[in-house]
This record gives sequence, structure tokens and C-alpha cells, in this order.
Amino acid sequence: MDDPDRSTVYLCEDRVAAMIATGAPVRAGGKVLRPEPDHKFASLAEARVFCTLICAELGLPPVSVRHRAGETQSHYSPATVTSHGRERPAEIALASWGNSKLVVVHELAHHHTWTKADGYIGHGRVFREAFVGLLRHLGLPGQAHALQHTFEVFEQ
Ligand SMILES: [Zn+2]
Repeated sequence: MDDPDRSTVYLCEDRVAAMIATGAPVRAGGKVLRPEPDHKFASLAEARVFCTLICAELGLPPVSVRHRAGETQSHYSPATVTSHGRERPAEIALASWGNSKLVVVHELAHHHTWTKADGYIGHGRVFREAFVGLLRHLGLPGQAHALQHTFEVFEQ
């Protein structure tokens, strides 16, 4: 699928990860916020519980979470009906380094826009707003601020 915003979002996310690593304050729009440390899930089970709780809280259908062997990027697949007529639930496949909460929230933002924004699957404005909104919802205003600011820099 044509998704020109994908590489920009990945670049912005890398920058935010670097900001989180330094813990330095981010100045933007008259506000100065320090991005909170990134939580690293200790296990796949912990990431699953997190996703289950967030989906229940936001009224999203459940999403299954698995490891994605041999890949460097995590991936979201919406629920689908297989050629055998069986329903396969939405799935988040985490790359080997995907134990970062920021990465899991990125994939949950896809689940959110797919469910709430008529099957939206790209990385455009709808996705970016959902991603930032989820971070705010999770009590991570510093990370949300850093990500929003980074997106705005790239949109100029
Ligand atoms: Zn994505």
C-alpha cells in the first residue's frame, strides 16, 4: 500500500526515542516538558496484558500480540476473514526490539484508527493524532509533547 508518511513517522519516533534516552526537556509552543522514560515490557505476557487493558478501556476489539521472528520492524494487521471463512482477530507483531512501550503504543494507534476511523491504516494526520492522543491518555504528556513537536517540525 502507498503510505508516504510511514518513513516520516519512523524518523520522528526515532528522534523521540533519542529525546527519551537523554531525558532533556523539549521546548515547543510555549511549553517545556521532559519526556518520561520509556517503559520496557519484561515479557510478551506483560505487553499482552497492557494491550488487553487499553483495548477494554477504549472500547476497542481485542488484539492479539505475538513476536515477529527475524524482522526489525513491528507490524499491525487488522482483523480479517480468511479464505476459509474463519475470523482472524487483529494482531500486533512485535519485532525483537519491540518491547518498548512507545513501539507498542504505535501499533495500538493503528488498531485505534482502524477501528474508530473507518479502517484507516496509513501514517498520516489521523494516525499521528491518535498516537499522540494515546500517549496523553496513558499519562505520558512529556512523550506526547515531544512526538507532537517532532511531527510539526517535519510537517513544515
Ligand atoms: Zn505504523
